[in-house]
Amino acid sequence: MAKIALGSARDIRANWSGNVAFSPTEVVHPRSEREIVHHIARATAHGTTLRAMGAGHSFSPIAKPNGVTLTLDRYRGLVSIDKDTGDVTLRGGTRLWEIGPLLARHSRALEVMGDIDRQSISGAISTGTHGTGGRFTGVCGLVTGLKIMLANGDAVWADREHNVKLFEAARLGLGALGIIVEVRLRTIPLYKLHRREYAAPLEETAARFLETSAVQDHQEFFFVPGGKRAVVRELNHVPAESSSKGMGRVRDFVESEVVGNGAFALANRLVQAVPVSKGSLSGAVSTLMPAGEAVHLPYRLFVTSRRTRFRECEMAIPACRFDEAFDTLTRTLERSTPSLIFPLKVRRTAADDVWLSTASERDTVYIAAHNPCHAKNDDYLRLVHDTLAEFEGRPHWGKMHWLKEAELRSLYPRWNDFAAVRNELDPDRLFSTPYLDSLLGG
Ligand SMILES: Cc1cc2nc3c(=O)[nH]c(=O)nc-3n(C[C@H](O)[C@H](O)[C@H](O)COP(=O)(O)OP(=O)(O)OC[C@H]3O[C@@H](n4cnc5c(N)ncnc54)[C@H](O)[C@@H]3O)c2cc1C
Repeated sequence: MAKIALGSARDIRANWSGNVAFSPTEVVHPRSEREIVHHIARATAHGTTLRAMGAGHSFSPIAKPNGVTLTLDRYRGLVSIDKDTGDVTLRGGTRLWEIGPLLARHSRALEVMGDIDRQSISGAISTGTHGTGGRFTGVCGLVTGLKIMLANGDAVWADREHNVKLFEAARLGLGALGIIVEVRLRTIPLYKLHRREYAAPLEETAARFLETSAVQDHQEFFFVPGGKRAVVRELNHVPAESSSKGMGRVRDFVESEVVGNGAFALANRLVQAVPVSKGSLSGAVSTLMPAGEAVHLPYRLFVTSRRTRFRECEMAIPACRFDEAFDTLTRTLERSTPSLIFPLKVRRTAADDVWLSTASERDTVYIAAHNPCHAKNDDYLRLVHDTLAEFEGRPHWGKMHWLKEAELRSLYPRWNDFAAVRNELDPDRLFSTPYLDSLLGG
């Protein structure tokens, strides 16, 4: 059986942002369903817990093990593509960056992706990873079926016709129900994206966001606390035959250089060394944000690379409460934000019917705040979190938050259904951890 010493395949001593340390008793990298069954049986026999880990890109301790860590790093790739429906079935450890090129070879594509593509497909759906677009759901909404290994060692296929309750729960299961070994996703014919980025007045951008994000395929905007300008990013689907352009120097500028990487990290350090007024800071930041345009394949334009590490909190609020929530948040930040200029980011998704999805049964706007890794505390993230929690905010499961079971259960209409599936399938809590129990109950 494949048994690998800690750290020998890739560094899994901490999550991507470095704020959650992992110290599993053992790390196993099975290559087959048979080996996964073996590890389940062995953990059960030894009375230890088994935690699946994807790429370790969650900011919260959701992947932190309390016993054995199981990764599917060696269980990746294409299982099949259905020629009639276009649905693709992938092994559970497949990384998102592998999916785009794989689908393009079959003239298919994912209809939406988030900011980055380093995650595993199982990790992405298990925490509700999403992109933006008023007509698009998060990734878990694309799942049309999955195969999961349960605590009793059974491998079960679940979709809308078979094991329906398991399907509803495991499309976003927080790793609590079993090891996902295959995921089937809806795809659409291959297309290209036309991306535009431009600066605009913040107040007007926010006031029109519900309207514009319903028309644009994928729209989002960034703003600096205390600032008056927004940077808007729009991605629209164009035919696959469109000529590619603009992937040169402007490529990824806004997110990868300004938001995600060097420019803001440098600015943040300067701010801490030399106090500057928020007004002059945000003016300077706006000038860092040029307009840009590009056309390319979706898996090239949805995502960016992130070289600078940060911590993030993201709250999902009902779209119908966005205006009041945004107003309250910007006023709060105006009054009390420390001199941080990592921009906040605003995105939108359609409602879905996934029980624990942050967009479950509600059209949703997401507001995300970032803290540079060198920040001494997360008071700023906590402020954004607490402010948006007042507007029925549901925290992203893979990002930092401070809600526990009592608060969370009141936010999800299908909470008890999920709990019933978990109790039935994992009564002895093989897949549990103290952190998971704090969210779902022990
Ligand atoms: C730089 C950066 C950018 C990001 N951008 C976005 C974004 O644009 N949109 C967004 O929504 N999120 C975003 N995220 C958050 C990220 O998508 C989620 O936290 C995601 O869960 C990480 O996937 P992972 O493969 O690293 O999973 P991990 O963090 O390793 O695990 C997450 C959960 O999945 C479970 N899991 C993993 N594999 C399996 C399996 N085979 N079976 C059962 N359970 C499993 C784990 O037990 C755990 O509960 C970003 C994170 C980073 C670091």
